[in-house]
Amino acid sequence: MKNFITHYARKRYTSFIIITCIALILPFIRINNNHFFLLSFDHKKLDLFFISFSTQELYLMPFLLICLFLGIFFITTLGGRIWCAWSCPQTIFRVIFRDLIQTKLLKIRTSIANKQKNYEGKILKKILAVLIFYALSLVAVSNFLWYFVPPEDFFAYIQNPGEHLLLMGILFVTSFFLTLDVCFLAENFCIYVCPYARIQSVMFDTNTIQVIYDEHRGGKVFDGATKLYKKPPQGECIGCEACVAVCPTHIDIRRGMQLECINCLECADACSKVQNKFKRESLINWTSFEAVEKRQKVRYFRFRTIAYCIVLAVAVIILIFMGSKKEHMLLNINRSSELYHIEQKDGKTEVSNAYIFLFDNTDNKAHEYYFKVEIQGDENALSIVRPSKPFTLKAGAKSKQIVVLKTEKNLSKNKDQDTILPLKITAFALDESEKIKVERESIFVYPKDIQKD
Ligand code: SF4
Ligand code: SF4
Repeated sequence: MKNFITHYARKRYTSFIIITCIALILPFIRINNNHFFLLSFDHKKLDLFFISFSTQELYLMPFLLICLFLGIFFITTLGGRIWCAWSCPQTIFRVIFRDLIQTKLLKIRTSIANKQKNYEGKILKKILAVLIFYALSLVAVSNFLWYFVPPEDFFAYIQNPGEHLLLMGILFVTSFFLTLDVCFLAENFCIYVCPYARIQSVMFDTNTIQVIYDEHRGGKVFDGATKLYKKPPQGECIGCEACVAVCPTHIDIRRGMQLECINCLECADACSKVQNKFKRESLINWTSFEAVEKRQKVRYFRFRTIAYCIVLAVAVIILIFMGSKKEHMLLNINRSSELYHIEQKDGKTEVSNAYIFLFDNTDNKAHEYYFKVEIQGDENALSIVRPSKPFTLKAGAKSKQIVVLKTEKNLSKNKDQDTILPLKITAFALDESEKIKVERESIFVYPKDIQKD
């Protein structure tokens, strides 16, 4: 005999477990010492897809945000509030608190099938439920922080809380507000606070998947906001209101699409159990308006979704391309305030210019660095006085180097004014000089023809 009972709740719980495991495990996975995602203000770096970028390379962030927003637009147009029901931490926390802790564990609520009923009394158990959730929220907030303070640092820091008061403050205060939100604000967060809930309906079209009550089969229950019947005189809806009792946002889906509906599909499961007794499919389904109206399958491939796919693919390709252009070292060059320095030595005139080089090893291992300098047209005109030999930089380390370049040649091209010569600087890691190399331009200033004065 055909069974019409749907198991969306079970599938959602599976999705919650997978997402939670991924979120918990991901910060611990490192490849070449880099994380999947880490925005560390401490180490001034961004790890993305296991590649490390210095904060000076944050030009990738706009592309990342563009991909993120395009992804949200695409998913919302295709699957409506699929994020809210299947992945949103708020929904996951509410299921853990209400259905797991309050109902299954402490039996404060008698059944997850009725989310409308308020249970009086049981004060101690209610307090215990909040305390259990606060303990869980410490884990959840820690997990969130691991994307900003890597776990290897986080666990070292919390062993010395006195030295890391800011981190400890963020952990305990955020956990407190998370507990207030989940235990007391509850689904009102989705209805009144969450901005995504407000903007997403503009991305919907008639083919967007939503939770829809089939009025053709079930019968008309509402006329706008006015409830006509509990049980429509014509139609398959028996007016049991199992779909209303189970709804965590306290709405009646038979009224049509509502901002409050988080698409959790609990009403669809509830109705499927009722209709199964009559050997019929649920009157509430995860489908599109057009599919219900025209009695056809949902159209996933349509102009909007294909266009979003193409634009998203282009943005991802650009992001990957930009990511692959990552420099393994960075170099900033500034000239010192003194234009040049003149010194007479063994009857020769020596002219030197000083610079400040800021080296940044953005690679994930230590390297020995040095550089060469050349003036266009005369490669051997300059020598490096300082630093006199290569220096080592640890992975992610920066070093400010005072650089002095000297010439014994007369480079003056004009006896009435200083000569400005274009200077090419090539800095490199000695062990990987082809891969880790940057070129910069600056100037060398030679005084007006001093030797002939
Ligand atoms: S659960 Fe189904 S049959 Fe019962 S009131 Fe809701 S739509 Fe009607
Ligand atoms: S109407 Fe149905 S899908 Fe929407 S929030 Fe209520 S139970 Fe969930």
